[in-house]
Amino acid sequence: MVPYGTKTWKPVDFSDLSLLRKKNRVIGMSFPRQDAALGLEPSILTVLPDGDNVEYDPINRLYNDEDVLFYLCSVYISGYDEFVIWAGKHDKNKIVVGGYQPTTFPEEFTSHAWKVVRGPCDNFYVTIAQEGQVVDGICTYDRLPRRDLYDIYKLNQQIIPDKRVEDVVVSINTSLGCSQTPACDFCCTPIMCPKLISKPIDLVTKEAQALAIFKPRFCFIRDENFTMQADWQRRLAIIHEALPETKLYLFASANTITSQLKADYMVRKGVYMVCLGLEDPTKDYAKNRNLDMVASYLKNSGIYMYLSFIVNPLEIVGKEAGEAFYTKLMERFRELAPEMVCGNFLMPFRGTGLWDKYFQFVGPEDYRYYDSKTPFLVRNPVLREKMKFYMFWYQWQYFTSDFYRDNVRRFDTGDTLHLRFEELYREFMPRYERIWNVRA
Ligand code: SF4
Repeated sequence: MVPYGTKTWKPVDFSDLSLLRKKNRVIGMSFPRQDAALGLEPSILTVLPDGDNVEYDPINRLYNDEDVLFYLCSVYISGYDEFVIWAGKHDKNKIVVGGYQPTTFPEEFTSHAWKVVRGPCDNFYVTIAQEGQVVDGICTYDRLPRRDLYDIYKLNQQIIPDKRVEDVVVSINTSLGCSQTPACDFCCTPIMCPKLISKPIDLVTKEAQALAIFKPRFCFIRDENFTMQADWQRRLAIIHEALPETKLYLFASANTITSQLKADYMVRKGVYMVCLGLEDPTKDYAKNRNLDMVASYLKNSGIYMYLSFIVNPLEIVGKEAGEAFYTKLMERFRELAPEMVCGNFLMPFRGTGLWDKYFQFVGPEDYRYYDSKTPFLVRNPVLREKMKFYMFWYQWQYFTSDFYRDNVRRFDTGDTLHLRFEELYREFMPRYERIWNVRA
């Protein structure tokens, strides 16, 4: 299969920029809209072309089509309804869509958009110059994201240990996709980009240097699996050299951190935290076979571990099933001692190994629940609430435990992790009594 974005392309002559006169606005938007409390700069900035006629709108306003040349809309599953309502009020011939949902369900967009772009794209004009309504995104890897259109100081926030609200956080991508074989059955990354594609080193250098002007205290290397790249050490060194005072954190899979030396290298190059997917502790994932070993490498190096986990709501229905799952999960937390844990409910993505098992149950009315924080396909609202509560509650128990205080770190430091969990505590506890006596 040819990965999206690696096709050969012919440069298009857009020198006739009479099209791009001042009134011909090009407007980028993300559906669902930006979450200013938790988000990072959106990926649509990578797609937005150069030119002072280009804007990014974080709140998806309505526009006068007369003023606009193109709307560039990135649509994720949970933003589909919002997009359809917005698109119904605008000229279809000016709308270009891309992102996960158009990549996997292009047919759902052909009546709302002039072009439907599949897979990653960083060169808008060469992409839309292709014939046909549904086209593959083209990456030419010669441009930086339009961060000038976005307020990183006001809009970027992350829930991570040691970060204060006022600390500046930025992000960088040095690669796209993931080549894990077999792909993890829940993960949509290989659907967007089925092969690991590393960006050219020169571009990574330029981008890291461009981030220095923000004087960030934290930088998230948001590659889906940074350490899967053969030359990740060189890439890390480049980022650290450009941002020597910045704490770096990144996604990795345990099977790529194969020695203590690699963890030691990371800490020397500014990495303060590695995000690993524990996923479902009752399942065996090829990428996680040496997770316990990697946890000890990271501890020895003084690098924090961020452990995400997945809860399949359909497999914890009933008190016994729920308790068995969370008991196992808490055991793993104690064995691995991560500084941060983060739970997500399982979501079946089209094209993944799990999809065949779920697709007969999933309809467009479920799209808004693809937010990882809602128990997917659970129709009983009280049970939904209870499942959300328990996901929060076990994380809270871990962070506030004697074990965490004595063996991991202090939790109540006023960082964004602590503040966010206090906020969730205030949100959940008043509802606790109401759901407590429900058996399920
Ligand atoms: S979970 Fe990580 S290792 Fe597995 S397919 Fe997704 S990106 Fe690759």
